Order: sequence, then C-alpha cells, then structure tokens
Amino acid sequence: MNPQNESLLDYKTQDYGHDPTEVRHTDTYTDEYVRGFVEKWDELIDWDQRWAAEGDFFIEQLQSRGVRRVLDVATGTGFHSVRLIEAGFDVVSADGSPYMLSKAFENARRRGHVLRTVQADWRWLNRDVYGRFDAVICLGNSFTHLFSERDRRKALAEFYAALVHDGVLILDQRNYDAILDHGFSSKHKYYYCGEKVSAEPEHVDEGLARFQYSFADGSVYHLNMFPLRKRYTRNLMHEVGFQSIDTYGDFLETYHEEDPDFFVHVASKQ
Ligand code: SAM
Repeated sequence: MNPQNESLLDYKTQDYGHDPTEVRHTDTYTDEYVRGFVEKWDELIDWDQRWAAEGDFFIEQLQSRGVRRVLDVATGTGFHSVRLIEAGFDVVSADGSPYMLSKAFENARRRGHVLRTVQADWRWLNRDVYGRFDAVICLGNSFTHLFSERDRRKALAEFYAALVHDGVLILDQRNYDAILDHGFSSKHKYYYCGEKVSAEPEHVDEGLARFQYSFADGSVYHLNMFPLRKRYTRNLMHEVGFQSIDTYGDFLETYHEEDPDFFVHVASKQ
C-alpha cells in the first residue's frame, strides 16, 4: 500500500458493502485492519493472558531445532516478535498492514526494543524481505485471510523460499473443522482472551467464516476469513515441499479432533 492510501485509511471504517457474506477476497485484509480495529486488537488478544496460556510452546519448538533467525510474517501488533526477541532470537517482523506494523513498532518500543519491520504481502514476500531464515512463523490465525487456493500456494511457496534448507514453518489456524461440522463453542482461551471482548462467528459456510468482534465500549468490527480445514492445510504444505508436518491441538500432541480451538502446524523442509 502506498503512503497516500495509508493516510486515507486514517478515516476509514470497515465497509463490506450491501452483502458482507459476498466479500471473499484475499486483498480484503488491508481494508479490514482499519486504524480503529488495530487500536483495539491488543484488548482482544490481551498480551499477559496470551503469554500465560501459550507458555513456552513456540520458544521450545524453535530452540529444539537450533533456530536463531526468525521471520514473523504476520506480526500484527507484535506479540510474538517481542516474545521471541526477549527470548534471544534474531527477529524480522513483516506484515501487509502498515497500521499493524506501526502498532507493533510502538508496542516493542515501550518494552525497550526496536523492531525490524518490513511491509510485505505474503504473495510477494521475497520481493521485500531479504535473506534466509531458520524459521518462519505465521501465527494468530492469519493464514485464514487468503481466499483462493492459488494465493495459499503462492504464500506457502514464498514462506518455503524464505527458509534455509532445513528451516521450519510454524503456522496456526482455528479449528474450523469443529465449527463447520459441530458449530462454534470457543473457550476463548488461547488467542482471543481479552476480558470483556467477544469473538463469535456471524456466518459460516465452506467458503467463509465471518466473525464479529465486540468490545466493551460498544464498538464492533468484523473479519471475513476462509475456513481452512486441518487436513487441507496440511496437504497444501506437503504439496509445496514441506517434508514433515506435526500438528498440535491447543499446544498438545494428542487431542480429540473436535476439542482444540486452534491447531498449530510445525512443518519442516527436511
Ligand atoms: N500474528 C498476530 C497475532 O497473533 O496477534 C496478528 C494476527 S492477525 C489475525 C492477521 C495478520 O496477518 C494481520 O496483521 C494482517 O495484516 C496480516 N495479513 C493477512 N493477510 C496478509 C497477507 N496476504 N500478507 C501479509 N500480511 C497479511
């Protein structure tokens, strides 16, 4: 996005047109993360509670593979970038949303860090991000923003290319299988854990999961997402070249398919 569009977004509210359930495009994310929503995001994900809930899961995954350089491709407001910097990793923080990146920079600054940020859309990641990384992380149910299989393949191929020969991709997603097959019953435990915030599906079909986020001050935002089935995501990762994929349910190795709120895929090139 060029700086002109960036300043226009200052005044923008979310606008899905006359039928929001028809909005199913990858490019929508840049318009969805308007300034007002970005400012609210940390209320939604409450850093302290999220920190406590996920524990050292990601740090242990990365350390056990000898990872040093990490590319956070979905930086958002900076939660994982900051965590990993504080755990001693060398982190580059990318995101396609300029508002998210500036919020992340500000959040990191407050904690005494200077984030290395790059505005980059995943589909053209390696045009804007230089170098190779031991790990790429795409967390917080971000991959769900891609609406076509072509875009998903392109993004995964770009993640693959950004990794060293034995690198690892860690990518998470909501348990959409459970939502599609059994309805929604989130415990709101791991990611959407801010107090007095609700995150609930407004419309779900095989091609769209439209969530409504309501905040304590009465403000309401939405996200239109593609409901990735777990097996589908794993297959795509295999098809772009990842050799082994371990999938955890709410950070555990063993689980009943319908129980977890989130799945975390740990995909290795070797
Ligand atoms: N990882 C953060 C977290 O867990 O709090 C942010 C998650 S937020 C749900 C999704 C992020 O992915 C947003 O910051 C959005 O701008 C970014 N994003 C979505 N689609 C993208 C794309 N095609 N290229 C780059 N970033 C994208």
